[in-house]
Amino acid sequence: MKTVKDMNIENKKVIIRCDFNVPMKDGKIIDNNRIKESLQTINYCLDNNCKIILLSHLGRVKEESDLEKNNLEPVAKELSKLLDRKVTFINETRGEKLEHAVSSMKEKEIILIQNTRYEDLDGKKESKNDSELGAYWASLADIFINDAFGTIHRAHASNVGIASNIPSCIGFLIEKELNALKELDNPEQPFIVILGGAKVSDKIGVIENLVTKADKILIGGGMAFTFLKAEGYEIGTSLLDNDNIDFCQKVINKYPDKIILPVDVAVTTEYSNEEEYKVKDIASIEYNEMGLDIGPNTLELFKKYLSDAKTVIWNGPLGVYEFSKYKKGTDKLLEYITDNNIKAILGGGDIVAAYKNANLKNEVYHASTGGGATLEYLEGKKLPGLEAIK
Ligand code: AMP
Repeated sequence: MKTVKDMNIENKKVIIRCDFNVPMKDGKIIDNNRIKESLQTINYCLDNNCKIILLSHLGRVKEESDLEKNNLEPVAKELSKLLDRKVTFINETRGEKLEHAVSSMKEKEIILIQNTRYEDLDGKKESKNDSELGAYWASLADIFINDAFGTIHRAHASNVGIASNIPSCIGFLIEKELNALKELDNPEQPFIVILGGAKVSDKIGVIENLVTKADKILIGGGMAFTFLKAEGYEIGTSLLDNDNIDFCQKVINKYPDKIILPVDVAVTTEYSNEEEYKVKDIASIEYNEMGLDIGPNTLELFKKYLSDAKTVIWNGPLGVYEFSKYKKGTDKLLEYITDNNIKAILGGGDIVAAYKNANLKNEVYHASTGGGATLEYLEGKKLPGLEAIK
C-alpha cells in the first residue's frame, strides 16, 4: 500500500480526504480529536511545500434542513487554531469560486471545501460515488491522499472516486490504523477475541472470520443472551436476537472449547440505572429480569483467559456502559488489560467511547477510530477505499 512517504509530493497540489466528522452541538465542535488526528499528514504536506486542499464529510445530508447543522466551517476555524495558520474555507463543493481559489493557491496554503455530503442532496452524488464528481475533485489536484479511516469501507466520490483518477496514497492516520489491525492477520498466540455490544447479527461476520484463528472468544454484552438462550438458559427479558439462536447454537456445537459465555450477570427488572445493583448466577435469572452487565465471576473468568494473552481484539462493550452501574464489567476488564500491558486493540465505536471515559492509568495498545471500517476489516472484507489506492 502506497503511503504518503512513498510519493514525491514536494511542491505539489495535494487533495487530502480527512475525517472531520466531529461531534457538533449548536454549531460548536464538542470533541476536536478527529481534527487533531489529521495534523500529522497535513503537517507533512506543509513541510513538503504543498498546496493543500482538504475535504471531508460531516453527518448526513438528506434534505435542505440538514445543510446548516452539517456546515464544515467551524472545522476550518478549529484547524486553523491547531495549525496556527490560515485555513481558507470555501463554502461550496464545486464551482467557480472553488476553482479560482485552487488555481491561485500558493505553497503551504490550505483550503477546506464544504461538506462533501452537500452533494448528496443531488441524487446522493457523494455517497453513491458519482464518477463525474470524483473526476471533478481529482481535477483540482496532482495527488490524492486518503486519510479518512472511518469511511474506508465505503465507496464514495471523495475517496474511491478521486483515487480512480489521479496518483493516490494513504496518509499517516490510515497507515497507523492498518498497521495495528494487520497484527490480527497472523496474531501472536494466545489470541483472545472479546465481543460485546447489542446484537449478534452485527457480529456474525466477525465471529465467522475470527473463530478459527482465536484461541477463545469471550462473549458479553447483550449478544451473550442469545448464546445463553441457545444453551437452554432462561434469560428473562434480556436482549434476544431471535433470528440468530440457530447460528449461536451451531457455533457453540462446532467450537465448544472456544466460546466462553458469562457465568453470572447484573440484573434489573427495568432498563434503567435506578434499581439496586444485583448479581445473579446465569442459571437463576427470573422471567422478569434482564441482564445489563457481566457479573464479578465472569469478570474473573475473562481475566483468567486474558492473563497469558499475547494478542487481544475487543469489539463492543460487555454491558450497558451508558449506565454507571452497568459499566463496571467493561471498565474493570479495560483496567485489567491496561494495568497488565496486554496487547489489545479496541475495535471502534462504543468500546472506544467506553475506554475514553474509563479513567485508566495506562493507555491501551491501539484504539481504532473507525467503527464500521474496523468491523468490516475484522470480517475479512475488502475495503473499497483501500482497493482503489492499490
Ligand atoms: P454495539 O454497537 O453492537 O457495539 O452495541 C453497543 C451497545 O450495546 C451499547 O449501547 C450498549 O448499551 C449495548 N449493550 C451492551 N450490553 C447490553 C446488554 N446486556 N443489554 C442491552 N444492551 C447492551
